[in-house]
Order: sequence, then C-alpha cells, then structure tokens
Amino acid sequence: MSIKNIFGSLVFNDTVMQKTLSRETYAKLQECIRTKTSITIDIANEVAEAMKNWAMEHGCTHYTHWFQPMTGITAEKHDSFIATKNGELIMEFRGKELVKGESDASSFPSGGVRATFEARGYTAWDPTSYAFIKDNTLCIPTVFCSYSGEVLDKKTPLLKSIDAISLQASRVLRLFGKDVHNVNSEVGAEQEYFLIDKAVYKARPDLVYTGRTLFGAVASKGQELDDHYFGCIKERVAKFMEELDIELWKLGVYAKTEHNEVAPAQHELAPIYCDTNRATDQNQLTMELMKKVAGHHNMACLLHEKPFKGVNGSGKHNNWSLSSDLGENLFDPGSTPEDNLQFLLFLSAVIKAVDEYQGLLRMTVATAGNDHRLGANEAPTPIVTLFLGEELTGILDAIADGRVYSKRARCEFEMGVHVLPKFLKDTSDRNRTSPFAFTGNKFEFRMPGSSLSISGPNIIINTIVAEELRQFADELENAPDFNEAVKAIVKKTIIEHRRIIFNGNSYDKTWPKEAEKRGLLCLKSAPDAIPYLMDEKSIEVFERHGVFTRTECVSRTEILLENYCKTLDIEALTMIQMAQRDILPAVTTYMNELMENLVKAESLHIALDMSAQKDLLDKLTRLYNSASKKVEELQEARVKANKIKPIADHAQDYRKYVFNAMEELRKDVDALEMITASKYWPYPSYGDILFSIR
Ligand code: ADP
Ligand code: MG
Repeated sequence: MSIKNIFGSLVFNDTVMQKTLSRETYAKLQECIRTKTSITIDIANEVAEAMKNWAMEHGCTHYTHWFQPMTGITAEKHDSFIATKNGELIMEFRGKELVKGESDASSFPSGGVRATFEARGYTAWDPTSYAFIKDNTLCIPTVFCSYSGEVLDKKTPLLKSIDAISLQASRVLRLFGKDVHNVNSEVGAEQEYFLIDKAVYKARPDLVYTGRTLFGAVASKGQELDDHYFGCIKERVAKFMEELDIELWKLGVYAKTEHNEVAPAQHELAPIYCDTNRATDQNQLTMELMKKVAGHHNMACLLHEKPFKGVNGSGKHNNWSLSSDLGENLFDPGSTPEDNLQFLLFLSAVIKAVDEYQGLLRMTVATAGNDHRLGANEAPTPIVTLFLGEELTGILDAIADGRVYSKRARCEFEMGVHVLPKFLKDTSDRNRTSPFAFTGNKFEFRMPGSSLSISGPNIIINTIVAEELRQFADELENAPDFNEAVKAIVKKTIIEHRRIIFNGNSYDKTWPKEAEKRGLLCLKSAPDAIPYLMDEKSIEVFERHGVFTRTECVSRTEILLENYCKTLDIEALTMIQMAQRDILPAVTTYMNELMENLVKAESLHIALDMSAQKDLLDKLTRLYNSASKKVEELQEARVKANKIKPIADHAQDYRKYVFNAMEELRKDVDALEMITASKYWPYPSYGDILFSIR
C-alpha cells in the first residue's frame, strides 16, 4: 500500500479540481477563495457537475450538505443525484444545489432565535474546506443559518473569527514593513480517547446513555505504575489504529502520532496542524471515524472527558499559532527573542487577551463532562493562566523592570553516554497542568475536553487576540517613533497583565489562594462559566469584530446552559434506573444468601461463630437503606431543579442539587460494590472495563 496513493483519495482537493475543471473556472474559483468573494452561478454549475462526476466514479449516489449545528457534532441530510428529464432518469447536481441547501432545521438547538413557524434553515457551501466522500456520499462542508439570517452553527463564526484575526494581524505586520495580505490561524488538535471492548460497553447503561461511568468502585490497579503511558500498543488496538490512519489519510487528514496515554485503555492521536477551518472539520471527522472504526474491531471508543473516576480524563490540546502568507510563524521567538520586537508584540497581544478574557476562555470549555476533568489527574485547573517558561518570563521581567536581559546559557542535556547526540533541553512546558502554555512557537490550550468541537475555543482565541492587535495597531499607526512605541506597549502590557503568567505547579495547595490574591477568576463549574459569553465585555468584542451579534451571544449562552441541565438530567435518570432496577435488587439477592446462611447455621444447632457474616449483613443493610434513601433524594433534587425559573438559575440548581445528590448516591453504591459478591453485581467492574482489551 502506498500512502501517497491513498492520501486525499476521497477529497475533492486542489489536484482534483485542476484535473476536472476548465482552466478558467479553476482560476476563478481560486480567486474567489483567495479574496473571499462569492462565486457566480456559472462557476457553481461547473464545479457541481465536476464534483458529481468525480463522486459517482467513486461509487456515490448521494450528496449531503455537511454542517456543524450547535449540538457540537456534525449533521447531514442525504439527497440522491437522481432527477427526471422528459420522463427519463438522469443523474444531476446543479450549481444552486451545491451552493445552497434548505433544511427544516426546527429540531436543532437555536436558543430561541428561530421560532418554529419559521423553521427553515439554510446551508451554504464553504469553498475554503474541501468536499469529501464519506459512506459513499459526497459531503459538502457548509455553514448553517436561519431564515432571518441568525447563525445557527459552529462554522460560520469560526470563519468570521479567522477573518478578524487575519485583518488585525496583517495591519500590525504591515507596520513592521511586511507586505502581507493574509494571516492564517493554524491549529493542531491532539485527540485523547479510550478504547474498551464492545461487550463491556453494552453491558453498562451509563456508558451507553451518558458516555461515562456513573458508578464504579476504583479497580485495584489503575495508572499507578505508569506502565500504560507510551507502552507497547496491543495488537487489537494496533489494528484499529492502522485502519483509522488509512481512513483518515483517504480523507486528507494528516494523522501523524499515535500512542498509549496515561490511563489504562487510553490513547491519543495527533494530526499535523493546518489552517483552523480545516483542522476543525478534520477533528470532527476524526472523532466520527474513531467511533466507527472501533466498531469494526468490536470495541467502543469513548470520547467523554471523564469516563472513569480516579484515572486520567481525556483532553483535546488545541495547539494554536499564527502564520503570515509570507510563511512566517508569528510566534517564532528566533534566537534572540529579547530583541525581536515583532515577536514580543504578538506575544503581548496573547498575554493581554488571556488575562482580559479569562472568563471567555473558561466558558468555551465549560461542559458538564469537563467539570469532572478540570483540576483532576493531570488535567489543567479551572483557573486560566499562561505558562511562558523561565526564559521568556525572564525577558519580560527585564523589560518590565527596565533592565537589560542577561541571557542564561541554555542547558545542554547530559545523558552520560558519549555516543548519543547532544541536544539542548527544551525550555517549553512539560508540566501538563498549565491551561494555556507557550510551547516553542505556538500556544497549547489544554483545557478543552476530548469531545468538544474545537470551533468554540478557536473562535474565542482568534477574536480576543484580534481585539488586542486592533488596539495595538490603532496606537502604532499614529506613533511618531514606531520602535519606541512598540517597546512601550510591550512594557505596559507586561506590567498590567503579568498576573496571568504562572509557571509553577497549579496543583500546589497554595495556588488557589495565590490566584485569588492576584485577582484571577476561579470558575469551578460550567454554570459559573457559561454566562461569561453574554456579559457586556464579551458582546462588545464579538460585535466589534463581526463574530457574533448580541442575539447570538444570548442564544448560545442559553443553548449551553440548557445542554448542561439536560446532560445532568439524563445522568440522574440513568443513575436512578441503574440503582433501582439492577443494583439494589442485586444487593438484596446477596443479602438473602447471607440470611439463608445464618438460618442454616442456626438450624445445625452447633455453636458456629457467624459474626463476620452478621456484620457483613448489617453493613449491607445499612448501605442499602442509605442508597435507597439517596435515590429518593436524587429524584427530589431533580424536581427542585426543574421548577420554572430563568435558565441560568436552572443550571445553578442542577449543579447545587442534582450534581451533589448524584455524588452522594455514587458513594454508597461504590461502597456496596466493594462488599457485594461479584457474581451478583449486575455490571462489569472498573477492572473488567479498563482491562477489557487484551
Ligand atoms: P505534545 O504531546 O508534546 O504536545 P504532539 O506531537 O502530540 O505534542 O502534538 C503537537 C501538535 O501541535 C501536533 O498536532 C502538531 O502538528 C501541532 N503543531 C506543531 N506546530 C504547530 C504550530 N506552529 N501551530 C499549530 N500547531 C502546531
Ligand atoms: Mg501529544
């Protein structure tokens, strides 16, 4: 098999376009993409015809507008190419069907912006992301909006934020004398996931309904020995990875690195980074394919950010950088960052943005699932901070204090084995608990959970950095002495925003206090964080850069809060069902066995010491009673949280009542699992699940 032959073979990419379109149409289409102008119907007709022929050669009979509604996953509605002409069957795909689709969108979340009576939604082709073939269907990446123009998806605002950062970053670069037209934000999203055997997956209603285990006593072996991390990949998993790679390569995804992660059954895939729009589409495809391919190998792929208590959760590190159309990475510090004014200015924009919009960054990763992950087992804490490393921090401190930076020699790595090549120690961050880390020539935002669409985080990062660059450009365009003005901005930014820089261990017990002293936000739960999307400062920055309107900010906040409540409600109902219908009855069966033992022992009329079994029965009875009561309390908590009130209060009440009642019930049930004979326990244990792939 030649990777070159299969790579991108299912993508209507540049090479295919060159081959299948007339020279003139190809040039016009490229021009429209480059200048971001709309294509004419003539171009659309020719492109549609070429796409259809190419797709049919690959066995397709259908096409779909592939879009990304607010559910966070992708959506598609399939249409076949068949049409009739003079009573004859023909295969047809017209330009107008390529550029615009119409879908009855009433069942997608809209946060109240689209009333049911105007349920129509439109999808429109995004020519900056290639069409591709999936499941024998031609998929056309599209944006999705309502009849009245409100945006209903995750792609449109991302494209707008990409334009915003390009505009402002180009302004700044031109001041440095660079002839740029466009600055691209680029992303590489590392994707963590768990693989477990399909049979254990199916046997756990919590995994099936909610994606995570709601009960489960900790297994006697977890990740203590660190023996899974980068460990030898098991044959079954290797076969899965092999198929996944091939499928992803066919779709033009640069799947590159795959390895075992820290927790048993946990793995990671990292692609080579590309422009943010395609990286986002490709990450959605990657998640979808992971689930599908796992099925081929009789496994289930878990993308939840915390499927198991007590072991690492799964994140999605969002590696982000900016590069100009001259091919320059704007975060490359060069060999003397202390003298690199352009780098220092762009770095300052990020420092200022992260500090001023901590709430938005926290908001964009706020989901019910991520609440379990942040701040536990190697995941970053919920307090947003920026890691810059010793060297950069030293440079910035010197600037702030008006000192000359004295360079410290970088450490050479001494292995003590002379045949090995010498290399310099990496000064970037290996401590994975930092939420936003500078890693050499890019920033790694580590807060997003594994199931999240990276659209959200990148909309925020692009927009807030664009805003800081706008302010800088405004100031610099009027500055009498450009270099002095840049230095002044850098210095001012560091002095005013250095509180956001933290290179230490955020798991240190003293850190939350220190963070509070610095005035940093600590938003522990999703309901605390989500409303930051609609505070005045956020609305202002989104409106200024044309990314979201006020209405869209409000409606998206509502969607997120509603999603939080619904997720918790499903979890609560699943727990109640599992406890009432399976777990508590199983415990009574065991209790019954013990009682029969006691009766039998009595009937033998010999003085047997049955105290241990009596104690056990007593313990089981107490826990059983307590768990039964907590099931009732969880029901009551749901009722309380569901009383009519504004959605933000709903979410807070779900957190306050339902979340806590769930934790309480879990404690008892997990304790019961530890002392109930395993043959009676109705579900596979943590050990069974985490070590199900052999
Ligand atoms: P680590 O696990 O050490 O963070 P990985 O190799 O797993 O590193 O992932 C790093 C990710 O960052 C990859 O997806 C890589 O392509 C991406 N990346 C590298 N350079 C850049 C850059 N300049 N901009 C954006 N992403 C980048
Ligand atoms: Mg990695």
